[in-house]
Amino acid sequence: MRFDILTIFPGFFAGPLDFGVLRRACETGLVSVQTHDLRAFTHDRHRTVDDRPFGGGEGMVLRIEPIHEALRSVGITAKAQRDLAAESVILLSPQGRPFTQAVAQEIATVERIVLICGRYEGVDERVNQVFCDRELSIGDYVLSGGELAAAVVIDTVTRLLPGVLGNPDSSRFESFGMKDGGAMAEPGLPPRSTHGAGGLLDYPHYTRPAEFQGIAIPEALRGGNHEEIRRWRRRAALEKTRRNRPDLLAHADLSREDEAMLTQLHDEQPKADRTN
Ligand code: SAM
Repeated sequence: MRFDILTIFPGFFAGPLDFGVLRRACETGLVSVQTHDLRAFTHDRHRTVDDRPFGGGEGMVLRIEPIHEALRSVGITAKAQRDLAAESVILLSPQGRPFTQAVAQEIATVERIVLICGRYEGVDERVNQVFCDRELSIGDYVLSGGELAAAVVIDTVTRLLPGVLGNPDSSRFESFGMKDGGAMAEPGLPPRSTHGAGGLLDYPHYTRPAEFQGIAIPEALRGGNHEEIRRWRRRAALEKTRRNRPDLLAHADLSREDEAMLTQLHDEQPKADRTN
């Protein structure tokens, strides 16, 4: 997969891409990331990329022409002719649709991705209209630029690409991930490090020591009883999702056993703390 980043701060990406999984993916050629300085596509002495907003108001707006030229130079197909399975141009913006694991999985099937990083008050809206097929927000807060958001998208998408993670199950069985597929029900199979989250948050993980400052790991994880471990992990995932992200439960892949566990968790909660 190839990522092209259009930015006024190309140097920003030297850090975030230079570690761990991302670094290895770049080194092994599974992923290529090119940064393009928008100032290189200006024609005035001051290399001006921004201008005042029509209608007045605070701040400056990134101009469309340098972005147009940059897109031409990276050789991306015009929007009307673009094959969305092969190419996608993404504008990072707090006004965009939420960037979720499901969106990352969609993007991971595309061959070439262009990420446009805004700055100042944002980007001339015609950039979005004329060139972009996705406008994505990484969360309900305002960053000072799209570079951090672009790094988040690249990291999340890269680890979903075949061959990037040593164990492909690592990205299948984690928070927001797919269903378990029933493999745990097969007798004799060892427990996975994680189980299919089915739209829930991941369960808590523990490693040695088994006791730290008087806090012991859960009893169920000490023994080798696969079924007991599976049940403990599922219940813990449900408990954590219920506590931190109850909104996810509405769309989660819940079995009858899950429903029973949720009822139990609800009943165990002190009456005064119940909100649902
Ligand atoms: N005036 C804009 C607004 O209120 O929606 C905020 C512009 S922000 C200061 C500058 C740039 O940072 C944006 O153009 C965008 O590229 C990036 N940005 C800020 N927050 C973001 C977010 N939550 N997700 C993705 N990009 C974001």
